[in-house]
Amino acid sequence: MLVFKALEKLKVHLNSKSFKIGLVPTMGGLHQGHLSLIKKACLDNQTVVVSIYVNPTQFNDENDLKNYPFDLETDKTFLSSLSKNVVIYNPDNDEMYPSGIKRNSYNFGSISHHMEGKFRPGHFNGVATVIEKLIKDIKPHNAYFGEKDYQQIQIIKALNNSLKLGVKIISCSTEREKDGLAISTRNKFLNPRQRSAAIKIHFALQELKLKKGAKKFFDMKRFFINTVEHSKDLKVEYFCIASIDDLVPVEIFEKFKKYRIFVAVFAGNIRLIDNEEIN
Ligand code: AMP
Repeated sequence: MLVFKALEKLKVHLNSKSFKIGLVPTMGGLHQGHLSLIKKACLDNQTVVVSIYVNPTQFNDENDLKNYPFDLETDKTFLSSLSKNVVIYNPDNDEMYPSGIKRNSYNFGSISHHMEGKFRPGHFNGVATVIEKLIKDIKPHNAYFGEKDYQQIQIIKALNNSLKLGVKIISCSTEREKDGLAISTRNKFLNPRQRSAAIKIHFALQELKLKKGAKKFFDMKRFFINTVEHSKDLKVEYFCIASIDDLVPVEIFEKFKKYRIFVAVFAGNIRLIDNEEIN
């Protein structure tokens, strides 16, 4: 598995191949969720760049950044059985932020105002800063993102359109553990009690998806909170239902609009997010 630390070397490698390039941006701690994006990218492109970069400007909590797992050797081993056409790009902060670590400021409008945008101030500006740079540097034809971070995909689509980056953004469905918990790098920090309680998040979302027609927003919210917080190990940070057009939370549903439920739940200091379509 080729690992590039320097952009110039990666560019030489990519220029020697005149084929389609796919980009899968990650922060490492690779798991089956990332792998599903990489496998899809391998089907659509001749060369796939998996970037592994823990981007400091998208963290709004210093401790979260400090404790974020980084283990390049384990990630390399994880990807080693894949095609030779997959390469890792693992830049350092100087490569990604040559003029010093700071996030750009973007105006994404309503799609950035709620849910993750509200509870993690500055997060999407940090994400967009690094994705803009990766796309401009690597010039992929296609870039792959997971629906687990549904709001993030909409931000990246808006970034791509407004800056005319010219990449095709491909959304990939959420990979889950057998019991339904959305796979996340953070899951390994859950203790056994938190881990078994965490299955309630997906369970409650599925129940709501099935029963939507018969429920009102506040009943749905109460059901979610009661189900999840039945375990004292979990605390709901937010429960929102937003139209997929503008990601603005609503409490009354219109017949022909499409909606998604978005949730964030704390298990101790581990923050888990999930979302589910409810049409
Ligand atoms: P991260 O390393 O957490 O920044 O994630 C890198 C990419 O993998 C993002 O596009 C995520 O949405 C995606 N991703 C993370 N977890 C999953 C999952 N369980 N299923 C599908 N995609 C995922």
